[in-house]
Amino acid sequence: MVNERDNLIVMKFGGSCLQNKDSFDQILKILTQYKEKNKLIVITSAINEITDKLIHFYERSCIEDEKCTFIIKEIYDLHKSLLDQLFSQSKTEYSETLKFIQRNIEELKQLGNVVRLIRPSLDIKDLISSYGERLSTFILSNYLKSNKINAVYISSDELILTDDNFSRALPLLEETEVLVKEKLIPIIENSTNEIICAPGYYGSTLDKKITTLGRGGSDLTAAVIAYSLRSKYDCKVIYWKDVKGFLNADPKMAKKTALLRQISYIEAKELAFFGSKILHPLCLDMNEKGNIPSEIRSFKEPESEEFTTITKEIIKDDNVVKAVTSIYKLSMVTVESDTMIPLTGTASKLFSLLGDNNVTTVFISQSSSENNITFGIDYEDSTKVSFLLRNSDLFGKKWFRIKIDNDISLVAVIGAGLLYTPGIAGKVFTTLGDNNINIKAIAQGSSEMNFTAIIDRVDCDKAINVLYDAFINQY
Ligand code: ASP
Ligand code: MG
Repeated sequence: MVNERDNLIVMKFGGSCLQNKDSFDQILKILTQYKEKNKLIVITSAINEITDKLIHFYERSCIEDEKCTFIIKEIYDLHKSLLDQLFSQSKTEYSETLKFIQRNIEELKQLGNVVRLIRPSLDIKDLISSYGERLSTFILSNYLKSNKINAVYISSDELILTDDNFSRALPLLEETEVLVKEKLIPIIENSTNEIICAPGYYGSTLDKKITTLGRGGSDLTAAVIAYSLRSKYDCKVIYWKDVKGFLNADPKMAKKTALLRQISYIEAKELAFFGSKILHPLCLDMNEKGNIPSEIRSFKEPESEEFTTITKEIIKDDNVVKAVTSIYKLSMVTVESDTMIPLTGTASKLFSLLGDNNVTTVFISQSSSENNITFGIDYEDSTKVSFLLRNSDLFGKKWFRIKIDNDISLVAVIGAGLLYTPGIAGKVFTTLGDNNINIKAIAQGSSEMNFTAIIDRVDCDKAINVLYDAFINQY
């Protein structure tokens, strides 16, 4: 007999799904519907804006600002008012949750004191930032219990192990897989338990310090949990969002857009990289690595047939280009040399200097004459990069000219079809050229699934729309 494997769905609910009684009831409705046929693990973010407030609290505590007490009070009041909406005071869940909130708020105050009196440090910052998810997840699990669902709460430092790169920690996959299996499988297999609730966003180092996975990191938590359980269950991840899924262009700029119903991980990663900030980009890597299908669905319309499925297979269809996307605010740096300084060595020095200083490059392009390198950086990094280059021994001296243009945007066409269709670059050139949009540089991703043009920011809106019409809206 074939070994029948159970279906397990890891669901991730973001901050916007956790605002008030209506949204908690919506979660309840979704879980009730799915729990009949699937084992469920729920990963939650902090309630809207709480993470910002916690980081603010940490920063204010570092400079001994009076405002700290005020921020903590705000955090308490927000959770307390949610509690009052969700539970009637006579319920045991009410008093249990209230105690949990009070205890955690006390801990936060103490941590604030530690920061003020002894030492501000990145590990305390991560510890403080993790409280939003602890609170929201505990509240949700008790809300489920008060609605007769057997929910189990488990804190994610007991599940996710990471490196010690605080604020942007990376999960240690092998160690996490062992731990998740050891901790979660007995809970999942115990038939009295119905739903497991675990906080997103944080984990712990091997020596038990709390780390966070970067902003928006709860998506990654969900992906890592599914990855760790893939050998035992048929896993899927559903990311509940306030959008239906990936659109083929940014609705803020494009006049027309459509939902992408099915897309491969590789394409979705390109989209996530170029500004479509629906998912934490690393969670796509995780799902791809574990070959775990995932869905992005609308929290408001859970039964809608309109959603995005992301799978490993690349679906070939008539549209060579699946999406037109952009990064609106970008800076472009050109390092130029008149003399024949060998650029191989130069490039490696240049990018080590940037890498060592935490500057990521968005694209790189080099002229064939090989006497200049052009690259794109986040607009926010522009002053830093200017300082780094002008003060470096190599680039700051007479051999190089450094130009930084801060009014740049990037537009890209994306699709697996680019791999096997010639002429895309030509069509991008003519389309932009015919519309009087000047191309300052071009680049192509190593996956060859995007073709990128760098243009003046004033042309960005127009470029998106003309490319959309040329490549997608042909019928
Ligand atoms: N609460 C965290 C943040 O706001 C993590 C998340 O929402 O995924 O970044
Ligand atoms: Mg959030």
